[in-house]
Amino acid sequence: MITAYIGIGGNLGDRADTLRKAVAVLDGEDEVRMVAVSGVYETAPIGVTDQPSFLNAVLQVETSLSGPALLNRLLEIERQFGRYRKKKWGPRTLDLDILLYGEEVIQVPGLQVPHPYLHERAFVLVPLCELLPCGRHPVLGKQFTDFLAQLDSDQGVRRVGGLSLWAHQ
Ligand code: ADP
Ligand code: MG
Repeated sequence: MITAYIGIGGNLGDRADTLRKAVAVLDGEDEVRMVAVSGVYETAPIGVTDQPSFLNAVLQVETSLSGPALLNRLLEIERQFGRYRKKKWGPRTLDLDILLYGEEVIQVPGLQVPHPYLHERAFVLVPLCELLPCGRHPVLGKQFTDFLAQLDSDQGVRRVGGLSLWAHQ
């Protein structure tokens, strides 16, 4: 079993409801066990700024799936929730990214782990540091908390109180 961290986000429709249902689907997989779910954060869109704000969180799972098999499963779940994938960094009902897969470095067509933008994005680093406060980037070697401290701004990330994506925590 490998411990993986998955970024989850969305900015269309009933965002909290979509994220909650997606967590339940993933938790229902035989090969995936949900271990912990971070708090939920609301984030102003980056890149394409003319779109609704995102809700984001990070999931900690244990899985017997390989990295590519886990990605395929995540992409299937995105499709199940009607993911609209037209524009890079554009609006989407559900985005599931593999942030970390153990300490492994994966570079195959269609999959790069650690996720290439993970250390630049406050909406990933803040919830990741909640779950993994002493974690270190397997390639860049620096602690995730250090990347976070060195960002120019908080990138508009704020914690949404009173919202939980997983009933079993
Ligand atoms: P983003 O998440 O960067 O906004 P998309 O969700 O549209 O972009 O991702 C497009 C493609 O990125 C996916 O089809 C997938 O093949 C590829 N990809 C590469 N590395 C990863 C990763 N670590 N996690 C998820 N997708 C990845
Ligand atoms: Mg994605």
